[in-house]
Amino acid sequence: MSSDSFIPILNLTPELDLLRDELDRAYREVMDHGRFIMGPEVKQFEESVAKYVGVKHAIGVNSGTDALVIALRAAGIGEGDEVITTSFTFFATTESIDMVGATSVFADINESTFNIDPSDIEEKITERTKAILPVHLYGRPAAMARIMEIAERHNLIVIEDCAQSFGAVYSADCTECGGNCDASRKKIFDGIQTGSIGHAGAFSFFPSKNLGGFGDGGMITTNSDEMAELCRKLRAHGSLKKYRNEVMGYNSRLDTLQAALLNVKLPHIDRFNENRRAAARRYTDAFAGSTVITPPALPDDGHVYHQYTIRVAEGKRDELAGYLQRNDIGSMIYYPIPCHKLPVYEGKYDDLTLPVTNRLTDEVLSLPIGPFLSEEDQERVIRAVMEFSTS
Ligand SMILES: *Cc1c(COP(=O)(O)O)cnc(C)c1O
Repeated sequence: MSSDSFIPILNLTPELDLLRDELDRAYREVMDHGRFIMGPEVKQFEESVAKYVGVKHAIGVNSGTDALVIALRAAGIGEGDEVITTSFTFFATTESIDMVGATSVFADINESTFNIDPSDIEEKITERTKAILPVHLYGRPAAMARIMEIAERHNLIVIEDCAQSFGAVYSADCTECGGNCDASRKKIFDGIQTGSIGHAGAFSFFPSKNLGGFGDGGMITTNSDEMAELCRKLRAHGSLKKYRNEVMGYNSRLDTLQAALLNVKLPHIDRFNENRRAAARRYTDAFAGSTVITPPALPDDGHVYHQYTIRVAEGKRDELAGYLQRNDIGSMIYYPIPCHKLPVYEGKYDDLTLPVTNRLTDEVLSLPIGPFLSEEDQERVIRAVMEFSTS
């Protein structure tokens, strides 16, 4: 039956069907106790995430964007500061930097991992640079050993954008840093979760993320007691004690209801991510012979495949997307315009050249993936892609 229906880029229904009874129970419990703001489920979820990620503190907030904004503010970043990040990301990454009054400085990316290129980070450091904000794009950890080494040498804060990487595990990867990172540092960071490497991590529970809620939600992770306290203060109008507002903050708490529902989903995340990884492997094996498309780079050990994104030979990307559409297969371009070229920055980055970012923007295409993509549907996607690329 599924063989003739449309295959969306992400189908959340099977996940919902699997967990429906537990979710219904969690929902009813919150309705019954009625503590909709900072109820007991929030604390429980924060503790579970802190344990899972391997950090001392996890602070629930209203969205991934707020997690970034609040983490940046808690790190003391503001007016006059520069934050080095990638332009090849969702706008919220760079928006958060501008929202705290700092300036986004864009480094180019590595063409096989899509993540920020550490050597270009070094090129962009000035005396105003205060922080580096790497994104673990599509669920693949950025080159963290090298990034932390640069940060320490220049005394910079590192905030990880983990919106797409819940559950991703960093493994030192020499294809990313050209073998330049310090071996002892590699060992320190090898096999640990994204969000536990920098000074803070920012997660999103937007419904389509790997750990998706049923509305907006986010989380900050950190090992710093001071940063954690500031984040807790900032998310609740700048106060830890009611009606004793100490700094300008936000109304940005994680809803009890979202936390309750996410508590149900969290124990399944490793299996869901493993299913994504298995699907990614099947794609990559099947695409090995194509001259038109390039599958994502290996090694992919800790990658959680929030997206499975291929590169398509020059000029053929939109044609492939159209071909898939005609065959009832969804695909998406993440992201069609790099951040530095968005209308919001008109005129600001005219002189900036990011050759790899600009080129990949015209080449990338994300294919259907998820924890419950059936092998049958995946076969249909593979067949269509291979038909296109051999015709
Ligand atoms: C989704 C996303 C965000 C923002 O998360 P929200 O919860 O939607 O605010 C930030 N950065 C990246 C890379 C994202 O994909």
